[in-house]
Amino acid sequence: MVSRVIPVDPFDLVIFGGTGDLARRKILPGLFRRFCAGQMPEDARIIGAARGEMDDAGYRAVVAGAIAEFSGAIGQDAALQARFLDTIGYVTTDARGTGGWDDLRARLRDDVVRAFYFSVGPGLFGDLAERLHMHGMASDHSRIVVEKPFGRDLESAKALNATLAMHFKEDQIYRIDHYLGKETVQNLMAVRFGNMLFEPLWNAQYVDHIQITVAETVGVGGRGAYYDKSGAMRDMIQNHLMQLLCLIAMEPPSRFDPDAVRDEKLKVIRALDPVESHQIVRGQYDPTEDALGFREHVDDSKSTTESFIALKCQISNWRWSGTPFYLRTGKRLRARASEIAVVFKRTPHNIFDDAETTHRNVLVIRLQPNEGMTLDVTIKEPGPGGMRLMDVPLDMSFAEALGPDAEATDAYERLIMDVIRGNQTLFMRGDEVEAAWNWTDPIIAGWESRGDVPKSYDSGSSGPEDALMLMHRDGRRWREIRA
Ligand code: NAP
Repeated sequence: MVSRVIPVDPFDLVIFGGTGDLARRKILPGLFRRFCAGQMPEDARIIGAARGEMDDAGYRAVVAGAIAEFSGAIGQDAALQARFLDTIGYVTTDARGTGGWDDLRARLRDDVVRAFYFSVGPGLFGDLAERLHMHGMASDHSRIVVEKPFGRDLESAKALNATLAMHFKEDQIYRIDHYLGKETVQNLMAVRFGNMLFEPLWNAQYVDHIQITVAETVGVGGRGAYYDKSGAMRDMIQNHLMQLLCLIAMEPPSRFDPDAVRDEKLKVIRALDPVESHQIVRGQYDPTEDALGFREHVDDSKSTTESFIALKCQISNWRWSGTPFYLRTGKRLRARASEIAVVFKRTPHNIFDDAETTHRNVLVIRLQPNEGMTLDVTIKEPGPGGMRLMDVPLDMSFAEALGPDAEATDAYERLIMDVIRGNQTLFMRGDEVEAAWNWTDPIIAGWESRGDVPKSYDSGSSGPEDALMLMHRDGRRWREIRA
């Protein structure tokens, strides 16, 4: 199946931090793929900006290197690549300095969409917004894209929102959470709100519980210094897992438009109960014979930052009262696997002789690897021998069902195209981010005041034993983490 590609309007996109890791690994290769797909017009302009001294040709070489390294097979077409590189320019600018800003201003056109991607450390977001304003580039039709982390607590998030609001209106600010750009995540909304089948069952009466797992096999690696100040709560739960939870739990919006969707997500966050200390387990991975442990990675033998979290939370509203949500994320786990599992209740009465009582429908939304969905359905075991039951998955792998195009669009490239189109539906609004910090702040403050020390866990495991107990106590169990 060939997916429809609707070209976007011509644009000028400035990537601050255009030589950094994120720009090289995700943003530039993603733009190149959109160019190859015919979605990015040839008269679009991409301008890298950073402190490093180089000219347009030097930056084109950087971009060509990024494409060669991170674009896979699509990067091999030399003619296409040359046309893409024609759209690229570079300006030397310091977010805190004075040089380069007039040059940048002179390169921008007044009659096309104008977007500024802040792919620099969060400490520079405010400086960039201020300078764009000072140098006359924060016009009404310009947009800014702000990377994570958006603050490290409620106070800093509020301060950042206030700084950005001095120069840009809310409908010009695109706070990116790349989880929202994943095909499956959007499909979750299509499945919920485009079918009659699921929505009537999507509540506490029929859903036993929901599990959200984002498991990584990598450790903190070179990001140790950053991660030690952040931890899994700030790095993953407050943003990515919270966003997934919102999409699962929200009420149907009246329209699929940015504010209607974000209003409903906000209501979910505000309805979250505070999490008690016994409902949360923190972990830190141990060293192995051939790999460093967390504390060596962050270079602090007494670090109490968590590389793993499992928690149980409840949403106090009519739809979800009594249905727990279990969230789990961590590094150095058994497999790289992200999924949402909606576990339905058992039938109220078993009419079959089958003594097996575990049968239940489970809808699994797989984010990685192999984006797709499965629905476990109970059927009769084939053959003679009576009515023995078994669970079989109705499997819908997007790559198999829809062809390779279905997986070819990375979250970043999809979201950048949404910025150019001016569609904020898949971006976080300022009040959403603040509400999420408002929920996580007391949890973090509790650890700090109690001097909480994370439990250790083996690399390659499912996390600390206590995380298993979190569900066992409720008579439930985590799904196995497997790729
Ligand atoms: P990085 O590799 O350290 O790159 C930082 C970029 O910013 C470089 O291009 C650097 O170039 C530029 N820069 C630094 N100071 C500057 C200044 N004063 N003025 C102008 N440019 C400056 O960082 P990154 O990993 O790409 O991350 C960028 C942002 O994305 C961060 O907010 C990060 O949290 C977020 N993020 C990254 C990832 C990822 O996978 N890397 C994932 C999610 C979010 P010069 O030194 O030449 O100026």
